[in-house]
Amino acid sequence: MAPFLDVVVGLGSNLGDRRRTLDVALEHLGALPETRLVAASGWGETAPEGHVEQGPFLNGAARLHTRLTPGALLEALLRIEATMGRVRRERWGPRTLDLDILWIDGVVVAEHELTVPHPRLRERVFALGPLLDVAPDARDPRDGGRYAEVYAALQR
Ligand code: ATP
Ligand code: MG
Ligand code: MG
Repeated sequence: MAPFLDVVVGLGSNLGDRRRTLDVALEHLGALPETRLVAASGWGETAPEGHVEQGPFLNGAARLHTRLTPGALLEALLRIEATMGRVRRERWGPRTLDLDILWIDGVVVAEHELTVPHPRLRERVFALGPLLDVAPDARDPRDGGRYAEVYAALQR
């Protein structure tokens, strides 16, 4: 049997009914095969990142226990994004739904289409905050450093 993964997925939306989108996305995550939704953060508002004129994001995170591989989980997330009407226009532009793999306990992935931990996790308050809501003891699998400390340093 495939190993069991402890995963945190980041959710974001800045188009349409954002709260409804994130609630429905959570239901989709909980319905994935071989997967259990074990915790969800609250939804928090964040100013948009990047150069494009766009509205504020609603962001959050979900913690999953899954027997999917990281690659299969990414494919499933991209399918949920597509199902929920995400239109890709420009990078970092507005989107109905963004689902990113932020962290997998003890796992590093460095592939063309998947990097875990998420490459920008350590610099994003809007990703670290929700991650710590659902996984307060999470550590960077590369150096064992606690994300709680990374987050505290960003706040200073
Ligand atoms: P950012 O990565 O800065 O959050 P984004 O989420 O807007 O940007 P997307 O357009 O959603 O970027 O994703 C583009 C591609 O990023 C995906 O098709 C996927 O192959 C790749 N990718 C690499 N690492 C990850 C990850 N950890 N989680 C989700 N997608 C990832
Ligand atoms: Mg993203
Ligand atoms: Mg993404």
